[in-house]
Amino acid sequence: MAGRIRDEDIAAVRERARVDEIVGEYLTLKGAGGGSLKGLCPFHDEKTPSFHVTPLRGMWYCFGCGEGGDVISFVQKHDQLSFTEAVERLAGKVGIQLRYEETRPGSAPQHNREIRTRLVEAHHAAAQFYAEQLAESPEALPGRRFLDERGFDRDAAAHFGIGYAPRGGEVLRIHLRQKGFTDDELVTAGLAAQARGAPYDRFRGRLLWPIRDLLGEVVGFGARRLYDDDRIEAKYLNTPDTPIYKKSQLLYGVDLAKKEIARRSQAVVVEGYTDVMACHLAGVGTAVATCGTSFGEDHARVLRRLLRDQDEFRGEIVFTFDGDAAGQRAAMRAFEGDQRFVGQTFVAIEPAGLDPCELRQRSGDAAVRELVARRQPLFHFAIRTVLGEFDLDSPEGRTRALDRTVPVVARIRDHALRDEYARKLSGWVGAPDELAVVRRVRALAGAPDRGRLRGPAHSPDPGQQSLGIPVHGEVDPRTLSLERAVLRVAVQRPALAGPAFDDLDAEAFLSPAYRALRETVGKAGGCATQGGGSAWIDALLAAAPDDATRHVVAELSVEPVPADDEALPRYVESVVLRLHEVWVSRKLVTLKARLQRTDPSEQTGAYNRLYGELIAMEKQRRDLRERGLGDGA
Ligand SMILES: [Zn+2]
Repeated sequence: MAGRIRDEDIAAVRERARVDEIVGEYLTLKGAGGGSLKGLCPFHDEKTPSFHVTPLRGMWYCFGCGEGGDVISFVQKHDQLSFTEAVERLAGKVGIQLRYEETRPGSAPQHNREIRTRLVEAHHAAAQFYAEQLAESPEALPGRRFLDERGFDRDAAAHFGIGYAPRGGEVLRIHLRQKGFTDDELVTAGLAAQARGAPYDRFRGRLLWPIRDLLGEVVGFGARRLYDDDRIEAKYLNTPDTPIYKKSQLLYGVDLAKKEIARRSQAVVVEGYTDVMACHLAGVGTAVATCGTSFGEDHARVLRRLLRDQDEFRGEIVFTFDGDAAGQRAAMRAFEGDQRFVGQTFVAIEPAGLDPCELRQRSGDAAVRELVARRQPLFHFAIRTVLGEFDLDSPEGRTRALDRTVPVVARIRDHALRDEYARKLSGWVGAPDELAVVRRVRALAGAPDRGRLRGPAHSPDPGQQSLGIPVHGEVDPRTLSLERAVLRVAVQRPALAGPAFDDLDAEAFLSPAYRALRETVGKAGGCATQGGGSAWIDALLAAAPDDATRHVVAELSVEPVPADDEALPRYVESVVLRLHEVWVSRKLVTLKARLQRTDPSEQTGAYNRLYGELIAMEKQRRDLRERGLGDGA
């Protein structure tokens, strides 16, 4: 048994394995300014990224949970490896041959030291062996035929690394033993099973899909039954959980899909291995599938980290279902739990009950892309599905449909969305009184009935409905004081506030009094051209519409600005930028609500336009934030 790794080799690994590249294999990182990158922390659950990576220093740190370290400790912690195992894993990744110190006589043997590395190596060798069998062995003909019948040629099989497990009970075991692996290792890896102490190949006479982790290493297999006399009835068998295979987290195809998922802010979850293949070959490169288990929280966490994170907006997760029944069951589950991500969850249903693999065979690649493009928001789908059980042409049917669906809508937690769907529900059912439906939903949800409806769904002016302002007009005091600070500098130092202030529309101010003053500044000619001083104050007073506004001008003209002359330009810039950012954030909320109300299948053009606007606005906000933080203000 070898001893500890030489220090200079550890140093070489640390140098060659760039922290941003390695961490970037596990989660999507985005620029955070100053050469740093950030993403969603894999070590605690979070909605906004506080996990920072500094490539220059080779370090990572999470401001959310306080974890941090270098590239080795990241892999160690993420994959739950020992220090040595993490170094070995990284060395393999970056191509460094490790050398070990001689073990001192009498030192404790390190039995577990290399286990993970060995299991990964065994899988690598097994995958290669199985793939050769599929390509060359006469026995594998049924496997090749299976693929052929589903429209997958040799290139496709090779691209996905598909293999064939021979029917004999120990073909793989003998092959791997010749390569130096022990029976213990093969059993621990899940490649061999054991009966009465005798190990035998776990997979026999089956078609195999290698399942890879985020780093692209094979850690297990999914195996399809091929023969009628297979003593194992299950159509699919999977590797059991092992030190390197955790079915609750693994997603088939994620190694191929992760870049596309980040790039397109979309992940498509399909049900089977052949569906992943069909989607990728059809041009939906964001498809993944769970491996012998249903989609759970851990899977969602993995995808959320890969989805290019736009602060609160997290892209789409689209679930495909063959037929309504499975989709309906899944959709109804969306009403449970905390619903935090449900706004970004969509379903794509193939009406004829075909899965993506069958669909591609029957109707071609375009049909698969079309299936994904026709996705519907999850709530939309769920409510429509329940409605489908009723005859909406009869008054009795409409009454019963409402009785059944009002409680469903009432379970939506986001109240803006809940009102929105209540209104939609009224339209879908053909109820005569929209307000009555909204009131029923609100009453059942235990929400106060504010007595009036917010704007209609397709109102060109969202008005106050999505700005996050309570109807009674209370504005967050921090927002009020920011608005005041911005107006204070506009009154006292118009030249400094300048064009950046003039770019703020009146609607950037929530307080009616401040909004009026903003309009007054505009009427007086705007900040950009003003020298300031008493002439400017006089111009403002002259342009003010009423005494209340003149009063505010007077107050703001004498209130001290909290910055000395030297810091003043930076202070002015930072408050103006900050208000810009708050304003953009508010517009984002509106846009997101509108996006959620827009059905991508029915209003494709509008949806794509909104989506584009949203991404652009996210970028704008990020830029503002970065500029605002630029000097460490
Ligand atoms: Zn964290």
